[in-house]
Amino acid sequence: MPRAKPSPMQRLLWLPMILRRAALAKLMAEDPELMLLDESQEINMGAKQYEPSQQSQGGRYVSDPGLTDYVSEIGQRLARVADRSLPYEFVVIDDSTPNAWALPGGNIAVNRGLLTKLNSEAELAAVLSHEIVHAAARHSAKSIERGMLLSSVLGVASAAIDQRAGNYGRIFEDGAQLGAQFIVSSYGREAELESDAYGMIYMVRAGFDPEAAVSLQETFVQLSKGQSSNWLDGMLASHPPSQERVEKNRQTASRLKQSARQDLIFGFDRYQSMLNRLSQLSPAYNQTQTALIALKAGELDQAESDIQKALEQTQSEAQIYSAAGQIAMARKEFTQAQRHFSDAIKINPDHFRYFPRSRLGGQSTGAKRRGTGRPSPKPSPATQSGRRTGLGGAW
Ligand SMILES: [Zn+2]
Repeated sequence: MPRAKPSPMQRLLWLPMILRRAALAKLMAEDPELMLLDESQEINMGAKQYEPSQQSQGGRYVSDPGLTDYVSEIGQRLARVADRSLPYEFVVIDDSTPNAWALPGGNIAVNRGLLTKLNSEAELAAVLSHEIVHAAARHSAKSIERGMLLSSVLGVASAAIDQRAGNYGRIFEDGAQLGAQFIVSSYGREAELESDAYGMIYMVRAGFDPEAAVSLQETFVQLSKGQSSNWLDGMLASHPPSQERVEKNRQTASRLKQSARQDLIFGFDRYQSMLNRLSQLSPAYNQTQTALIALKAGELDQAESDIQKALEQTQSEAQIYSAAGQIAMARKEFTQAQRHFSDAIKINPDHFRYFPRSRLGGQSTGAKRRGTGRPSPKPSPATQSGRRTGLGGAW
């Protein structure tokens, strides 16, 4: 009996299998050119994760818009000299955990908790240029592609269905969800060294002294010895510091400075003046962290006393009111809790975490943003399953 000719549909079904095999063979051969995501898909994936990622980490830092403008200015100065042109964007996140992250496509965030650990504008440039390289070199995107391939090899049915239809939408959805994990997961040693090295080249191109990348790494190594859990969950976990990085950065800095122009800056004074407001508020943020630690330990009277001290220092911070609301809830002082959450929303109506709390016991996160008629962002898979980085704005 002659073999039946495959129907056009059957042929379509085989095609993705053949393509997948070819892609997998490339991966196994460590082909550096393996690219499942084209640039627009890479950018869209990051853009899709940008808002949920910010929300799940504490939301934008609205207390000092000038600080975000400043970080953005330094970031864009570095982005202009980067080897890869992407729609880079920089935000400051309202979270005490010292951390910074980059999404595929160039959306980059730095926590206020990291900014207070830096000593100069050049150290800020070292952080931002390092993140720029993670995005530019597709460090996350490559991992996502590997994840996509793995899903595909394991035979994710939805992907096969969508591929048959010539639509890769679903697989990129999966990829976007994977993307969220890369904010808090660890980059490998090679990616870290690459980001340090190219980051320092961008620093010099933009006029910053690359020695700041050495002092920054020394600070990280020193702090990692303290083994603070906040640090281990944040910057140190996603960008593991090491003495090797300190030494390599020192060599790179000395090489770069030999051929660099002479007017490279550190910008100690400008950095301190730009951080003025944040530095003034830091004792209140620290007091809030102390209160949340007490809350977590079930020491409710201590938590209440600590948070009152924070509120005595400032009434301008949504995070502090949110913490006060959480503590009042634990103490079953519901009217008081309602008032605190309302105050948090008044200060920052764009951070969705305050909404469910303001409803006292309501399970919904679908509260409408007041005045905009838009639904508030829903928690992403990252929000639901992602590792929390510190206590700032904890659920
Ligand atoms: Zn890194």
